[in-house]
This record gives sequence, C-alpha cells and structure tokens, in this order.
Amino acid sequence: MSKHILIVDDSKTVRNLVAFIMKKEGFRVTTAEDGLDGLEKLYSLETAVDLIISDVNMPRMDGFTFIKTVREQEAYRDVPIIVLSTEGQDKDIQKGLGLGANLYMVKPAQPDKMVKNVKMLLG
Ligand SMILES: [Mg+2]
Repeated sequence: MSKHILIVDDSKTVRNLVAFIMKKEGFRVTTAEDGLDGLEKLYSLETAVDLIISDVNMPRMDGFTFIKTVREQEAYRDVPIIVLSTEGQDKDIQKGLGLGANLYMVKPAQPDKMVKNVKMLLG
C-alpha cells in the first residue's frame, strides 16, 4: 500500500498543486482546508496518515496550533510533519520546529525538493 499524505492548507491552489505533485510520485493524498479540518480528517480516516504537510496561516486553526495538537497525542507523536509556509523568518521556523515539525519549508518550494524531503522523512 502506498504511503498516505495529509495536506493541510487554506489555499485551494496550494492544496491542489501539492496533491498533484505527491500523487504523481505514487502517494495517496488527503487534503484539509485548515487545522480543524486537518484534525477531523486525521481522526476519521480509515487508513493511517504517514506524513503531514501543513501551512501556517489558516483560518479557524493555524498550522502551529494544529501541529501542537497533533504532537500532544500519543498516536501521532512520531508522524513526520513538514511545514510549508510563506512565513520564513527565523522565529517562525524555530517555532514550527519547536512544536515538533520535522522540517520547515518556505513557499514557494521547489516540487523536487518537496518530494525529496517527503521521501527522506518516510525513508
Ligand atoms: Mg495559508
């Protein structure tokens, strides 16, 4: 069974683009439009999520709160998380990594770099 990636971003354009890139690599993809939707998808999916790619700036629940909530739960303590955000300042990167993200990528990210990072974390 191919690996399953959850993509959380409030931009439909970004969601569709990242989903397209990952599907092309043979991954299964589920998308969510904000942190709350991401949590709902995570809890309701029948198959486990192997990796999460999350935006930071989103309505209802931002990416930092989403990551913090995910990491607080035993079941998701080790699921790899990549942040994909327009916020590229050191303080944002430190915050994301401090909350438990494995990698922080700044938009626009190169598709091949994204794929490389995903494969590395799923290694
Ligand atoms: Mg956003």
